[in-house]
Amino acid sequence: MITRRNFLKGLILGGTVGLLPKPSYASYGDNELATLLDLSKCIGCGACVEACKEVNGHKFPKPAKPFPKMYPSRVKVADWSDKQDVDDRLTPYNWLYIQSAYVTWKGEEYEINIPRRCMHCQNPPCANLCPWGACSKQKNGIVRINPKVCLGGSKCKKVCPWHIPERQTGVGLYLKLMPSFAGNGVMYKCDRCYDRVARGLVPACIEACPEKVQSIGPRKEIIKKAHELAKKMNGFIYGEKENGGTNTIYVSPVPFDLLNKDIEKGPGRPHLAQVPDSMADEEILGMAVLAAPIAGVSAGVIKTIGRLKS
Ligand code: SF4
Ligand code: SF4
Ligand code: SF4
Repeated sequence: MITRRNFLKGLILGGTVGLLPKPSYASYGDNELATLLDLSKCIGCGACVEACKEVNGHKFPKPAKPFPKMYPSRVKVADWSDKQDVDDRLTPYNWLYIQSAYVTWKGEEYEINIPRRCMHCQNPPCANLCPWGACSKQKNGIVRINPKVCLGGSKCKKVCPWHIPERQTGVGLYLKLMPSFAGNGVMYKCDRCYDRVARGLVPACIEACPEKVQSIGPRKEIIKKAHELAKKMNGFIYGEKENGGTNTIYVSPVPFDLLNKDIEKGPGRPHLAQVPDSMADEEILGMAVLAAPIAGVSAGVIKTIGRLKS
């Protein structure tokens, strides 16, 4: 079926990210970078989603099949490898998708399209609480999961206020450590194109967007820009304060609680509700303090084992 989104995608994407003009981009060194998404501009064409898949496809899981016995036995198989084309939710093969909301605000009707992916929190519980040190935050604000260290226990997903990371069975270190057992697999999510950013390029989804919905820059500048934009459109901001502050800042002409009511939510489809600072919760903070030294040692040991077994 040719939907409006597919039609626009075909017209706009034209096959490859590389065909599109490259925006100029200065390397910001170790500055904490944030992205700004102007939701008044997004037409929901999906070019960003396609670009993410194209550019990051080499990082997607390549599971060994058939899966060996699950260990621990209570762990369920999570297999997206035969559904790699799914693009209406987050999966290990789809790190970005477009949510749509149809709302009336101040007597006017709006269709708002919202590109969703990891928020890259400033103080990310996924990284602070990963027991193996597989998830970490870089100085430039990127939060990423190292697939060579991740054991797929889903702690990151559980503690993430938006439950962003997605699990794939049949990959990862477990198969090297105990080849007869599948273990949990590995968790996947947007890594904000860390390898492109390291080369001074912008993330693929930003580069591919025909409407220039997203921009990237030092967090302070992005926050300033977000406030100017919100003032200009008499709009609203999401991400500046959520979970104590994130490096993904949305600006919308309609309130986010209205959008949150209308969007489809559930597994792989994150909400847009207000989120308190989860790391300010004493229990979580305590867990993080306990996890930190264990994670540091574990990551080192796991990396060494991985190297010896490869
Ligand atoms: S949105 Fe979730 S997965 Fe992403 S950095 Fe924050 S806590 Fe981690
Ligand atoms: S920043 Fe990179 S990895 Fe993240 S959604 Fe955009 S293209 Fe995908
Ligand atoms: S962010 Fe840009 S590329 Fe992505 S759906 Fe919106 S308009 Fe299209």
